[in-house]
Amino acid sequence: MKIICIGQNYREHVKELGARIPDQPVFFCKPDTALLIRNRPFYIPDFSQEIHYETELVIRICKVGKNFAPRFAPDYYDAYTLGFDFTARDIQRHCRKEGLPWEICKAFDNSAAIGQFIPKSEFPQGPDRLHFEMKKNGAICQSGDTADMIFKVDEIVSYVSRFFTLRTGDCIFTGTPPGVGSVKIGDVLEATLEGIPVLRCPVK
Ligand code: MG
Repeated sequence: MKIICIGQNYREHVKELGARIPDQPVFFCKPDTALLIRNRPFYIPDFSQEIHYETELVIRICKVGKNFAPRFAPDYYDAYTLGFDFTARDIQRHCRKEGLPWEICKAFDNSAAIGQFIPKSEFPQGPDRLHFEMKKNGAICQSGDTADMIFKVDEIVSYVSRFFTLRTGDCIFTGTPPGVGSVKIGDVLEATLEGIPVLRCPVK
């Protein structure tokens, strides 16, 4: 399976990074070794002094597809959850400045924490009206609504399929709202989708 992550998809987060609003979706990939599942702990890697959480809606691909239009996109995903796109922000700043690829700041082991998937049929409002929250040590740090996405879920899935064949089990992270911040040993991150707890991640 592959993990595809959309970057810079909420205006307020783009602003907090000091980046430019993109004209087309921006995406990158993480290998399957980045997966962190079943609420396992995230261990802070030794190569970064500044690991950030980014809480994101994650969608699960359920069918092989290539180059389909946005109106057909709902046929290709069947469930939602939340994920943490862990980012070595200090290394990312260096990569941006030097124009280097992002893998070492974004695609390292355990950098893609993924919660428990919930069938999309349980959310009749569709993918563009989903509210989610992340609490760190019990205090709300991120509160997002997919209505605020620059590129909506169906546009994203269609766009990615122009470049990559999507396969069953692939996951797409859809970008983070504002409020990203750092983690330290002992923190506990807990995320809820429409009030349903789907992901918990102790930091070690
Ligand atoms: Mg992200």
